[in-house]
Amino acid sequence: MSIQNLDTGNQYGQYTTDFVDYWDDLVGWEGRTASEGGFYEQLAKNAGAREVADVACGTGFNAINLAKSGLVVTATDGSENMLAKTRENARQMGVTFAHTQVADWVKLDKQLGEQRFDALVCLGNSFTHLFEHEARRDAMEAFYKALRPGGMIILDHRNYDSMLDQGYNSKHQHYYTGKGVDAYPAELNRYLARFEYKFPDGAHFQLNMYPLRQDYVSHLLEDAGFINVTRYGDFAKPYDRENVDFVQQVAYRP
Ligand code: SAM
Repeated sequence: MSIQNLDTGNQYGQYTTDFVDYWDDLVGWEGRTASEGGFYEQLAKNAGAREVADVACGTGFNAINLAKSGLVVTATDGSENMLAKTRENARQMGVTFAHTQVADWVKLDKQLGEQRFDALVCLGNSFTHLFEHEARRDAMEAFYKALRPGGMIILDHRNYDSMLDQGYNSKHQHYYTGKGVDAYPAELNRYLARFEYKFPDGAHFQLNMYPLRQDYVSHLLEDAGFINVTRYGDFAKPYDRENVDFVQQVAYRP
């Protein structure tokens, strides 16, 4: 299969049906479940959340685990292909969602109507798909509006700081843990992280991402009105800024 060389313009247009069919091989559900260890379910429950929106559900990994833990989950994604896979995976696993819908982050609060949530998650290094500061600002504003007062947001991203400052050196133990799948940056500079994914059968795909720095994301959250921003590195706190693969940022709507 040839490389899908993708445009940065339409962020979820990068998820072709071909790539979506391979996504669960990349996720590696078993390895990822073990590495996360119920982190998001625990965070949501400790905050007293009941109704949770996964706004970048992809093929459903986090939405399904949150629902399995007893939370009432709405699963949305900007990609029809991804959402279709979430619905199929949920059906196969006997998991029911409160609601599923194709929704773009920037219009999320409007597209979801009156519905407001106790917690909103945007996981798996999804927010990196926005290339314009204004789009990130608008998406954060929509996330804020989609939450009830007191609601919690959890948003994660790769540790781009260490990739940019020291080079790529993933332990590959978290998130995308699929066996035999190689994921590495084919191009990396302060404006673009072009990741290449190679699968054991020879298929390969690329995704263009914006390298989000940790402090920038915290400031974006604060600028949108969120308070008490807390960061975890590979699900632990405190953490070594330079030596974690992924950063999880948690904040609250006052
Ligand atoms: N959370 C899933 C996971 O961890 O496997 C999927 C992660 S995937 C890297 C990013 C997801 O974000 C894709 O499903 C993509 O369609 C979605 N996405 C990207 N930009 C979006 C936007 N502006 N609005 C809604 N979804 C978007």
